Amino acid sequence: MSKLQGKVAVVSGGTAGIGFATAKRFVDEGAYVFITGRRQKELDEAVKAIGSNVVGVRGDVSKLPDLDRLYETVKAKGKIDVLVANAGIGEFAPLASLTEEHFDKLFDLNVKGTLFTVQKALPLMNDGGSIILIGSVASVKGTASFGTYGATKAAVRNLVRTWTVELKDRRIRSNVLSPGPIKTPLMDLQPPDIIARIVATIPMGRIGEPDEVAKAAVFLASDDSSFVTGIELFVDGGRGQV
Ligand code: NDP
Repeated sequence: MSKLQGKVAVVSGGTAGIGFATAKRFVDEGAYVFITGRRQKELDEAVKAIGSNVVGVRGDVSKLPDLDRLYETVKAKGKIDVLVANAGIGEFAPLASLTEEHFDKLFDLNVKGTLFTVQKALPLMNDGGSIILIGSVASVKGTASFGTYGATKAAVRNLVRTWTVELKDRRIRSNVLSPGPIKTPLMDLQPPDIIARIVATIPMGRIGEPDEVAKAAVFLASDDSSFVTGIELFVDGGRGQV
């Protein structure tokens, strides 16, 4: 039986990497999915690749008017059962040479964008729904150059804990899904020596695949996790645990 049959889901940043794999899995499990991205061509290609029961809405989730437009479009379909706030950027610099511009860029999308992606979805969410925020193992590891990025993802963990409490009367579950290094365009930007150094820190001895995160997203989105809320689920080959 399909785990998300008849559910309506929104996946921000659904045109590539983890978001795309998640949107595809959700559709395969019977959901109707809205995906977002800033680039129209990539959005069209992702919609085509997923095939059916998917709509692309162009926009930048760190801009509040774009979020309003997204949810206006979603409203025509009905209520939201599952929200995945996935859009995020990883850009890395030592704290000692960090610029204000870099800091603002990361917090603008990873924290502000994530917060308002959820806040503005709430009037449309079904009671009993599931919110999944994409965090990162970087939130619990001290890794050179990952300080600001890790801080944004630690903030995401606290947002989830707060929503778990604030939304309890609506039985909306909120969880963080925190990947370790995953083979996506974001990871492809890293030079080979950095990749080799990262792999050496992963007990499973390899980089993960986007679909391995997507399978965990299906778990958190579905009734299989009906008593799971407020947690951070790591899909990281053990990197954050050692
Ligand atoms: P990708 O770069 O592969 O994909 C990012 C997606 O988000 C694209 O669809 C992109 O489309 C969209 N996006 C980016 N910025 C915005 C924006 N401002 N508004 C709307 N959409 C946006 O990323 P990943 O799949 O690698 O990462 C997804 C999430 O997983 C992020 O939150 C990241 O921090 C987290 N993560 C990733 C890890 C990894 O190893 N890859 C490890 C741990 C966590 P477009 O550019 O067209 O807007």
